[in-house]
Amino acid sequence: MDTHIEVSTPTVGVAGSDRRFPVRRIFCVGRNYADHVREMGGDPSREPPVFFTKPADAVVQPARSVPYPPRTEDLHHEVELVVALGAGGTNIDPQQALGCVVGYAVGNDLTRRDLQAVARKAGAPWDMAKGFDCSAPLGEIHPSSEVGHPASGRIWLAVNGVLRQESDLASMIWSVPEIIAELSTYVALRPGDLIFTGTPEGVGPLRPGDRVTAGIDGLGGLDHLIAAA
Ligand code: MN
Repeated sequence: MDTHIEVSTPTVGVAGSDRRFPVRRIFCVGRNYADHVREMGGDPSREPPVFFTKPADAVVQPARSVPYPPRTEDLHHEVELVVALGAGGTNIDPQQALGCVVGYAVGNDLTRRDLQAVARKAGAPWDMAKGFDCSAPLGEIHPSSEVGHPASGRIWLAVNGVLRQESDLASMIWSVPEIIAELSTYVALRPGDLIFTGTPEGVGPLRPGDRVTAGIDGLGGLDHLIAAA
């Protein structure tokens, strides 16, 4: 066996610089906007956040073209605020949590909704519904030293210029500090970790050839095509 293999670390560009943020892990929060919980048939009463993961190399950045994935006929977009960690720890105090954040980006938590529905029904894992190749297109990371820690602001996504998702970060059920604190009770968070913080209402299907544009006030945006498989 040849053990001299080379594995590259996925990275995300940092806005306004030549630097790239190395991605260690990707955590995601499910059901974090009440109207999206309702559209998925759930009850948005404030239960603890649901966490799942994507592999680090699901990141596509810069994201210009994302292949339509195999084994689905119902690929969905989910625009989300993405948090980039420069520090971590366990059992992080919510009051200290923002000190771990080095920046924010706009992300699309691409989802094979048909596979997710089957998994939900079977009580089976979401991995193949959420963690497929190229399932995490991202915009550039905007350093918190420049943009602060936005707790409000418009979040939106359009397909072929038609607005599909529009909400405000202030509508998140669990805030960024609360998410970091809760997640750090399950795992030791580390520099390089990304956290997708959940999507607002309006998720829907994408087809090959679609152009996805998305943004969050002050955090730039995302503009990518869905290419043929
Ligand atoms: Mn999501």
